[in-house]
Amino acid sequence: MIDVKKIQNIDLDYLTHIIETDKYDEEIFRIADEIRRKYVGEEVHLRAIIEFSNYCSQHCLYCGLRAENKNLQRYRMTVDEIVERARLIANLGIKTVVLQSGEDPYYTTEMISEIISEIKKLDVAITLSIGERSFEEYKIWKELGADRYLMRHETASPQLYAKLHPGDTFENRRAHLLEIKRLGYETGAGFMVGLPDQTPYDLALDLAFIKEIDADMIGIGPFIPNPDTPLKESTGGDLQTTLRMVALARIVVPTANIPATTALGSINPFGRQYGLKYGANVIMPNLTPNPYRPNYSLYPGKICLFERDTACVECTKTMIKSIGLVVGEGYGYRRKVEEVSVDC
Ligand code: SF4
Repeated sequence: MIDVKKIQNIDLDYLTHIIETDKYDEEIFRIADEIRRKYVGEEVHLRAIIEFSNYCSQHCLYCGLRAENKNLQRYRMTVDEIVERARLIANLGIKTVVLQSGEDPYYTTEMISEIISEIKKLDVAITLSIGERSFEEYKIWKELGADRYLMRHETASPQLYAKLHPGDTFENRRAHLLEIKRLGYETGAGFMVGLPDQTPYDLALDLAFIKEIDADMIGIGPFIPNPDTPLKESTGGDLQTTLRMVALARIVVPTANIPATTALGSINPFGRQYGLKYGANVIMPNLTPNPYRPNYSLYPGKICLFERDTACVECTKTMIKSIGLVVGEGYGYRRKVEEVSVDC
């Protein structure tokens, strides 16, 4: 029997032990599913993503959008194009628009402000996923109505973080996430599984961090090596370990919104369905318009690239129903639960 209390109390030795083997998986998956049912219910929330710019000024070793990658056709959507796309999403009945890009300073404070103000008129929740910006900008955009901010911490191992992000530190990323949380955003963190040199202990640190900041959203995906990056020769993350981490994240933060990530669906045709069975409760259909969509290539084999512009909406709804869950119709804010007690 696994010890749920030790998991929730972040006993690092114990977490390391159960992360490094698959022998507890059946039990971990079952308990994560029970906790998901109990604390967030049967609804799966849809978050429609607009990847509005694939320019990035950063150098993350694992990412296809990194500034050094010259094998990528770069694009930027205009403010009008972005708002128009958000309108289409709202008309499709989806209540969250995720605005995602590389770290692209071309979009000034004012431009992002205008986009937020226009999209808020559509009666949808807005998630920003545009990387690190200034604390002042986070504040301005929150006051304008942005609801959520998604910024994965990628790894909570300070050494590994420094290796993967030249010139940057985990402490800095942590400070940004803490400020975002303090400002009242629903705050999204998350990490990759299977990074080069990543240990089970490092993954235990990831769970400790999502607990420390009480992450409202937790995105977990396998690392998929991109041939246009310095990590092209790496092995990458596997399905089983990634699912184990999704399930453990559900046990650690029972009320968080946890997506079954696109990366999970990219390494296995049923990866997202497994994610939803083992703790996840969010799907993020891709609503980036063509012809831009194929150029937001974080990693190879990314699914849904050549779909009809809006095909992902029907596809994800069908997927949700096929495993007996319900398509959420609201904004999908994090559920407030007075007290979390887990007796599994
Ligand atoms: S992970 Fe984000 S910040 Fe890093 S290179 Fe990719 S898009 Fe840029």
